[in-house]
Amino acid sequence: MKLTIIGSASGMPVGKRSCSAYWLENGKDVLLLDCGDGTASAIVRANLDPMRIGAIAISHSHSDHYAGFPLLIQMLHISKRKKPLKIFVSQRIIRFLKYTLEMSYMWSERIGFDLLWQPIKNNERYDFDSFSIIPHENSHLLGYKEDLFRHPLCDLKSYSFEVMCDGIRGVYSADIGALSDIDVLLAKKAQWLLLEGMHFSLEEFEKWLASKSVEKMIITHIPPEREGKDFKNAIIAEDGMSIDIFP
Ligand SMILES: [Zn+2]
Repeated sequence: MKLTIIGSASGMPVGKRSCSAYWLENGKDVLLLDCGDGTASAIVRANLDPMRIGAIAISHSHSDHYAGFPLLIQMLHISKRKKPLKIFVSQRIIRFLKYTLEMSYMWSERIGFDLLWQPIKNNERYDFDSFSIIPHENSHLLGYKEDLFRHPLCDLKSYSFEVMCDGIRGVYSADIGALSDIDVLLAKKAQWLLLEGMHFSLEEFEKWLASKSVEKMIITHIPPEREGKDFKNAIIAEDGMSIDIFP
């Protein structure tokens, strides 16, 4: 299996990194994890064929994790895609993305392929193509709870994903509220961990990292102030980087 980093930036745009998007493939099927701003162009820069994407899983509705979605759909429409595309995301974000596509003239009868929307639920397993994913709610957005009465459309749902493919188990943290959010996912052996490295202090991070044994630990979502910082036993993501993962 191969993991290619499409976008490794944090929520603060920088020149050499696009926003969160990660391409997982086993030579046959492709799953895209998140689809942050700039994803369509970053896929082209990585020399990958977007027509190969079979499914997209979106962790939450911060724009650095979903805002590339309408343009990716437009790119697939222009490329004359026919194959259906599966989208795994929370029910509220489905409503929002459908509205966004409607306003972007990407109408269902116009785009030329079906979008198979799958509302995700906490701890439920979804099997498709060569993959299985299990979304796990994390605490990333819970700090907004008190604002919800003013902004009732917001979702507050943010997921980390457990991903299985060809006997390989991995974890994509996506944005998390605390490192402890994914402790339970790492209690079982994981061949890879793609960790979005924000929202905790470096000291806490280094200590936590030392206590985990994951075969391939990849740190991504790099904020400008942590640029150039190395971590022992971890790979620091760069856009376009590919990592082979074996069972
Ligand atoms: Zn976020």
